Amino acid sequence: MTVETLNLETDALHPGLQRSWWLREALAARQEASCPPLAKDVTADVVIIGGGFTGLWTAYFLTESAPSLGVVVLEQDICGGGPSGRNGGFASGWWDELDGLVALYGPEAAVRACRAISTSIRSIGEFCSEHHVDAWFKLAGYVFAATAPRHLEVGDEMVRLAREVGAAEELRELTAQEVRARCDSPAFRGGAFMRDGASVQPALLARGLRRVLLERGVSIYEGTNALRLNPGPPAAVATTRGSVRAAHAVLAVNAWATGWPQLRRRLVAWSSYIVLTAPAPDRLEAINWIGGELVSDLRTSVRYFRTTPDGRIAFGGGGGRASTTISDAFTRDMRAVVEAAEGFRLLFPSFADVPIVDAWGGPIDVSPTHLPTFGSVQPNVHYALGYTGNGVAPSHLGGRVLADMITGADTDEVRLPMVNATPRRFPPQPFRSIGAAVVRRAIIAKDTAEEKGRRPNPLAEAIARLPRRLGYLLGP
Ligand SMILES: Cc1cc2nc3c(=O)[nH]c(=O)nc-3n(C[C@H](O)[C@H](O)[C@H](O)COP(=O)(O)OP(=O)(O)OC[C@H]3O[C@@H](n4cnc5c(N)ncnc54)[C@H](O)[C@@H]3O)c2cc1C
Repeated sequence: MTVETLNLETDALHPGLQRSWWLREALAARQEASCPPLAKDVTADVVIIGGGFTGLWTAYFLTESAPSLGVVVLEQDICGGGPSGRNGGFASGWWDELDGLVALYGPEAAVRACRAISTSIRSIGEFCSEHHVDAWFKLAGYVFAATAPRHLEVGDEMVRLAREVGAAEELRELTAQEVRARCDSPAFRGGAFMRDGASVQPALLARGLRRVLLERGVSIYEGTNALRLNPGPPAAVATTRGSVRAAHAVLAVNAWATGWPQLRRRLVAWSSYIVLTAPAPDRLEAINWIGGELVSDLRTSVRYFRTTPDGRIAFGGGGGRASTTISDAFTRDMRAVVEAAEGFRLLFPSFADVPIVDAWGGPIDVSPTHLPTFGSVQPNVHYALGYTGNGVAPSHLGGRVLADMITGADTDEVRLPMVNATPRRFPPQPFRSIGAAVVRRAIIAKDTAEEKGRRPNPLAEAIARLPRRLGYLLGP
């Protein structure tokens, strides 16, 4: 497939020259209060850098537990302009992450962490109802669909682990027939069902959070780039036209943490892209996909897909880019769009004549463990990072933890094992950049070969497996 045959007709549909479709819909849905850039020096109790889910949930939980605190949010773009308004909208559980969680923290703590994410998923739905945020929240579960024989083993292993930790009800095996009864693709050979899985319209959620925060008196400055952070205390954040001094600072900058010396060795950034079809509700019905389930395959470079209420499919896939700086490559990579579109056409042949009408991408913050950590880099500077493409529900938990750390509340959440966990680090430059890029391509090559029934190139296979050999919980 070429860019031309994708039928992305105009530059307006070129990823990166536009907001995601989710965000455009959200911005069109209602008249919003404006949040002009910071243009003066202000003081506050807490300054949050980053207006994505992590920053917004942190502010939200602060307004819940300590409403008298002065909270300032600084966002270089607009709230939800980054991945929080660009993602697939999978608010999904962690039961499929048990291998990493158990290896890092042991079975008991791993189950506690999974249960905390389950609570977050449900709490997002409750937030939406309570605050009249219509973010299309739908709890319909998550289907993992194997598209290659090896992936059946991956699914079986996930189910086995859930059983082993006493959570058999959370993840169960599906036959090919059972998968296809929920979402019928000729490529699906079997898989697993995780009941923790809700879809959201992510930009509606981000903009809804922004509205609630403004109503609660949080000061949000959009179009405001935090240039430097001096931890103090008090912490001092410099921006182009003003500054904020506050007792506590939160770095909620996701993949942009590659630019912050305190955090840069804790992540590499990989890209992910989504293509969106025109509405085709009759086609969805024809393939039985009417329950609103989240679906993904079981490739290491996972492809994920969900439906919208008007009958579209949003189909995402990991792009080939990896980098240690956030550039245009994360939002304007037509090769990645083509790869996502090819994946869609491969898995959904009955949609061959349904056009792809939109596409967008963004960076994901890949941690050495495939899991996030929440903590402090200084006693008064806190962070949540490393969601590795699974941050919609975990950023809710991250916000909760950061708010509790700031107020000093002794809660179950701050005792979770990923809070103040000893950070793992990637190698220094230039190995980090080169390694991230080479491994990423190798993983995609291995996944593609397996799916086509070919033996992966031995060199690609060896490179794809290298991170695990080096002690990272990444790759096959
Ligand atoms: C295409 C794509 C699909 C994804 N799909 C899913 C999915 O389906 N499910 C899932 O769970 N996760 C998914 N993710 C990951 C998920 O979107 C993130 O983990 C989550 O949004 C992280 O929230 P955040 O607030 O930490 O980061 P962000 O949303 O990136 O927010 C960070 C914000 O910080 C701002 N910022 C950065 N530097 C500065 C600075 N110096 N000054 C001021 N502001 C700054 C950025 O502009 C950005 O808005 C996906 C990601 C992508 C890119």
